[in-house]
Amino acid sequence: MSVDRYAVFGHPIRHSQSPFIHRCFAEQTGQTLTYEAIDVPAENFGRALADFLAHSGRGLNCTVPLKELAFQKVEQLTERARFSKAVNTIIVQQDGTLSGDNTDGVGLVTDLVSNHQVNLHNARVLILGAGGAARGIIGPVMAQSPVSLYIANRTVSKAKKLALEFMQTGSITGCGFDDLAGLQFDIILNATSASLSGQLPPLPDNLLHSASCCYDLAYANTDTAFVKWAKAQGAAHCLDGLGMLVEQAAEAFYQWRQIRPDTQSVIAKLEAKRKTG
Ligand code: NDP
Repeated sequence: MSVDRYAVFGHPIRHSQSPFIHRCFAEQTGQTLTYEAIDVPAENFGRALADFLAHSGRGLNCTVPLKELAFQKVEQLTERARFSKAVNTIIVQQDGTLSGDNTDGVGLVTDLVSNHQVNLHNARVLILGAGGAARGIIGPVMAQSPVSLYIANRTVSKAKKLALEFMQTGSITGCGFDDLAGLQFDIILNATSASLSGQLPPLPDNLLHSASCCYDLAYANTDTAFVKWAKAQGAAHCLDGLGMLVEQAAEAFYQWRQIRPDTQSVIAKLEAKRKTG
């Protein structure tokens, strides 16, 4: 019998940590499987998916730029994938049908709440950005009952649209960065891709108090521009998205294998890896 095969599709994909993470999970839980990173540009997605399924493919992760395409391809959706309109995890069911999930939001919330003891309940939360990642985290963030959520984006209309879409989940305001002047937040989540090019959204001063938490969904071997800003502004917690990456992977692994891997040891390995460059 062939070994169950898993993979991450994306473009570019060369620097993906997912194979390392899932191989650690498999070893730790005694699961026999393979996990590889496959470079798939958007125009090849349908063909690559069919080929993968024909060759023992049991589950997939999808990353940039394929999450919306994956959302369209699957036959069933979890509620969190339906809300986020993006799929980062495909599960091949026993009958061969494809089920789509989005584990990004739960990954972020688990990292904040369980790994860093940052409580979202009753917190004043700000999300920077209104792209795919922002859309994926709003539902799980709102499920923690923050007192309010602001979504600020460069293209203001996108923030307002997202706020409207999720308004049934609680107090949500969509706005531009200028509109943040005079406001203060307990938690700021940077879901823009600005850090990937060393940039920072234009944020006013005094958004934080001495116990505020800042979390950049992006991660790098050194402090991102947003983490540097958070430190300079005196935030109590200045975190990046490495823990979220491992937690969203653990949730995908659980969906595929019904076994929850230990994430702490894998986060520690990745932290050690990035210290050595
Ligand atoms: P998208 O391309 O869908 O959205 C990008 C967002 O960033 C938009 O809101 C865009 O604003 C904003 N933006 C881009 N450049 C700037 C800038 N210079 N100044 C201000 N705003 C800017 O990307 P995603 O939502 O998919 O990804 C966002 C981030 O989340 C990335 O850094 C990604 O690596 C990270 N991520 C991390 C994960 C993890 O596991 N740690 C998982 C998923 C994502 P506009 O609408 O105006 O263009």
